[in-house]
Amino acid sequence: MAMDFETMDKEYIVNVYNRLDAVIDHGKGSILYDVNGKEYIDFSAGIAVNIFGVCDDVWKQAVIDQLNKLSHISNVFYTEPQVLLAKMLCERTGMKKVFFANSGAEANECAIKTARKYSHDKYGEGRYTIITLKNSFHGRTMATLTACGQESLHEDFGPFLDGFVYAEPDNFESVKSLAESHKVCAVMMEMVQGEGGVHPLDPAFVKAVEEYAHAHDILVIVDEVQTGNGRTGALYAYMNYGIHPDIVTTAKGLGGGLPFAAVLFADSCQHTLTDHTHGSTFGGNPICAAGAISILKRIDDPLLADVREKGAYIKAQLEACQNVESVSGMGLMIGVKLKKDLATVVNECVDKGVLVLTANGLLRLLPPLNIPWDVLKKGMAIVCSVIDEK
Ligand code: PLP
Repeated sequence: MAMDFETMDKEYIVNVYNRLDAVIDHGKGSILYDVNGKEYIDFSAGIAVNIFGVCDDVWKQAVIDQLNKLSHISNVFYTEPQVLLAKMLCERTGMKKVFFANSGAEANECAIKTARKYSHDKYGEGRYTIITLKNSFHGRTMATLTACGQESLHEDFGPFLDGFVYAEPDNFESVKSLAESHKVCAVMMEMVQGEGGVHPLDPAFVKAVEEYAHAHDILVIVDEVQTGNGRTGALYAYMNYGIHPDIVTTAKGLGGGLPFAAVLFADSCQHTLTDHTHGSTFGGNPICAAGAISILKRIDDPLLADVREKGAYIKAQLEACQNVESVSGMGLMIGVKLKKDLATVVNECVDKGVLVLTANGLLRLLPPLNIPWDVLKKGMAIVCSVIDEK
């Protein structure tokens, strides 16, 4: 049966995902089942989306209740879930205003547009360059792809947008020299580079960039699409760094499994986007927003402490493996450099019932934040045995 779906998938769906060998059918929390009834422990969480696992009861109820009330209405009208969610996001972060979108890339597009308009409004033409970091990932639309600091992503799609330059991560002088040689409106970074290889930025670097940027009226954009919503053991990863971004983008986990994103604006640029300068048909959809309220409410201190504890446990288990060269990450966002073939380990893990991911040559683990301890321990025992298998 699984084979039929794989053949049909290859025939009818554009092959950009290099799928793993499992046709996932249903699940509950951190446990998934394929079409043949085989059970899997989920260490992927839909790439940092399913922070409370799949089909979580609380989220599902919030979505169903809203579905029974109002499924969609245009942004020409006010709706309650959007307003309540925006208020919650601002209260939890100290940010001042929110724009809702549907995906991480769209949220970053909005951040890029805002940074350029902020600078244009204040300084006129020409001050539009955005500094991003090498190895960064910000999305696959033309602007966000241009923003990605990975040459391999830039091979086939030129010409790219003007006005993006790439600094070395953890090298403040690199950022400063680009800022001095270009007319820069913003610097954009992930606190933990995800797709680029699960690399947490050096806190001293992040702080130095923030101080320099704010001294020169350069906006600090933090891309929390993957790191946000509890993933790193703080509500947003920038909170681990003690900085005050001007713009924060978040998506993935916020929607609990539905496509959803938010852009948060600090005081500096809360008034930059004005009537008709930006918009989205589905952004802030009431069903997605109602689900997101239920998600955000449950990202509390005990959950975040649990994320940090589980992350430390996973790291300790991996560091004890002979075939592990190094472990990186923060909270439940873990990267593993292996001394053996990555594809073999990934396929073996899936074969033995644990769903894992990769990121730029590393094994990547992103379990649901509320994965039960017994499930986590069982999954880690399998992953470690696969890694150390001869
Ligand atoms: N930014 C970061 C840091 C991401 O990890 C991703 C996706 O992996 C994106 C942006 C793009 O998000 P989306 O796929 O929702 O457009």
